[in-house]
This record gives sequence, C-alpha cells and structure tokens, in this order.
Amino acid sequence: MQEEYNPDDFVELSKVELSSETQELMEKASAVYAEHFDTSATAGRCIFLSWYCSIADCDFCYRSVIKHKQGNPKKAKRSMGSVLLEALFSKTFGWPLEFITGGLAIMPFPELVEHIKTISEVYGEKVWINLGEFSESQIEELRPYVKGVCGSMETLHPTLHDKVCPSKPIKPYSDMFKKLKGFRRAIAVIVGLGDSYSDIHYLLDFIKEHEIDRITMYPLKPVKGSPYSKGPTTDEFLKWVARVRIEFPTIEIVAGTNLRRTEECGLYMKAGVNAITKFPLLKEFGNDSAKRVKELIEGAGRVFTGNISEEVDVDWVSVINELPIDGEYKKQMLDTMPLYMEKFGGKKKLKVLTHCEC
Ligand code: SF4
Repeated sequence: MQEEYNPDDFVELSKVELSSETQELMEKASAVYAEHFDTSATAGRCIFLSWYCSIADCDFCYRSVIKHKQGNPKKAKRSMGSVLLEALFSKTFGWPLEFITGGLAIMPFPELVEHIKTISEVYGEKVWINLGEFSESQIEELRPYVKGVCGSMETLHPTLHDKVCPSKPIKPYSDMFKKLKGFRRAIAVIVGLGDSYSDIHYLLDFIKEHEIDRITMYPLKPVKGSPYSKGPTTDEFLKWVARVRIEFPTIEIVAGTNLRRTEECGLYMKAGVNAITKFPLLKEFGNDSAKRVKELIEGAGRVFTGNISEEVDVDWVSVINELPIDGEYKKQMLDTMPLYMEKFGGKKKLKVLTHCEC
C-alpha cells in the first residue's frame, strides 16, 4: 500500500491504492474528456531562461534554499545557444513548448523580448510565457511572439498562499488576467503545499473567474532544505486533477511528473489530462523510462504524439543554418550543440539542466 509519496522512492503501480471517491471521479473525468477531446496525448516541456529570481522566497522553491548561488542575474542566465537549441529540439521532436519561464526580474525587459522573439522564431510559432506579471504596454510589445500567458499561482488558498509565497501575491496576477485581451490564459498550481481537497473551491473559483484556458498541475516535489518533506500520494493528486476535468470539461490540463512518479502517467490520462510535463525529455530521450512513459500513456487508451524514444537522423548543422534568426545566434547554437550530441548522434556528454517549478 502507498502510505504517502516519498520523494526518494519511485512510485510503484502495485502499491498505489485509489479510494472509491477518486475512482469515481476518474471514471467521470475519463468520460468528460472523451466527450470533448480526441485520444491524443503528449509530453511537453518548458524552456528555462535563468535560475535567478528577484524574490526567491517562495518556501517550496529551490531558489529559496540556494540563494547564495543565484544572487547575480547575469551569472544565473542560461546561454542563448542552449535555450535556442531546446526550442529547436522541441519543434523537431514534437514536444509542445509549455512556456518560457525562469524566476522574476531575470533580465532587463528589452533583453527578455529579444529572447522570446528569437525562441518563437526557432520554434516556428508564437509561444507561451510564464515570467511573472507584465504591464499592459509590455504585453503589447510581446504580442507578436506570444500567444498565451501563464501565472504560477502555486496555491489559490488565500492565507496559505500568503505563507507559501510571501512576496508573490495573487492580486497582481488576477489583475493582469482581467486585462489580458487576445491572449490565451494559463495557471500553474502545486498540489501538496498544505491545502486539503476541501479547499479545491479556491482553485475552481479562480479558473472560472479568470476564464483560464489551460492549467498545469504539479504534485509537490519536496526540495531538501525547504519546509516540505513529502509530496501528495497518487490518490490525492489524481483527485484534484479529475475534479478540475469534471468542473471544466474543455480546459487543457497538463500534469507534472518526474522520474520517480513516471509510473503514474497512465493514471493521469484516466483522470482526464491532455499532456504531461516535467518528464526529463532531454536527459531520458530514448531510455527505458521514456519508452515506459509512452507505454503507460498508450495503455490508457491514448495515442502518444511526439518523439521521446526513437532514434533520429537529423542534419542539425543544416537545420540550424536555415533558421530565420541572426547569424550570431546560429553560431551560438552550433557552438553549444556538442553538449547535446550524445543523445542525438554525437559522442560528448549531454548537459543536463535544472528546471524551475515557477
Ligand atoms: S517559485 Fe518562482 S517566484 Fe517563487 S521564488 Fe521560485 S522562481 Fe521565484
């Protein structure tokens, strides 16, 4: 029996026990999903620009426990070459780009615009952003490259939110969403920060009030040194996900996973999600764990789209040279490419990068 999710253990399906309430919710959620979506499902990812954050005090976030390492925004910024390569891999392998993210105030706004513009040019379409709140004029400047805005709300429980994110209040995000015109809207929340299932109405009310199109739901993955030592059980997480699906039949739901929770992916499908995220696609590409994710999703009756496990034969140099971006950026991509080549046909070790919950 699965007593509680231990962040150091791998979830085993044979130990997962679902309450009758959760099973009923999942059955209903499956039916609602089937009524409104086709059978496809995929694994997406975000692109992370920097590990700096100007506030760095959300209590679950690794930035709040490694402040000493991320104090300088210039040094904490990832290289353009590596960011753009990730956009190219996402496009090439059919991994939906969930959003461009990083901490708050990671670089001056004009530089951020340049990053987002160039990523969208490499990816070949407008992108989603999750980079904090923006003013109306900033949003207008981003409009040519951005199709949707995500706010990492973490929890919508008002008093819990004040405790968890003391410097990132809900209201500015609420105000921003109310003013957004002509953009899709998303939120990201974490299940397991302390709110109980009976508190889910705060989340449901927020989705309804702000006409949210997409929600990313992560099970808490406790960070060493933070106040948290356990994440939600499979049962707890699925209950939240299935309820959102039932209450909002057409919302897009993306569920977060990680290597240790991979076995849950088929159950996520049955709870009505459209896609998973946070599976380490670059690190695990072609490995048994990637094949297992696909198998679990297909075992739940879905057709997996996107390539996470098949060998590729791509002339990366030609592809990069044909991109509609500045020559200097192409050079940076080509210079960085060897770091990734172990996975995609070369010999050097793949560089594995940490991603943000934000
Ligand atoms: S969760 Fe986001 S806003 Fe909060 S400290 Fe981490 S990076 Fe900053």
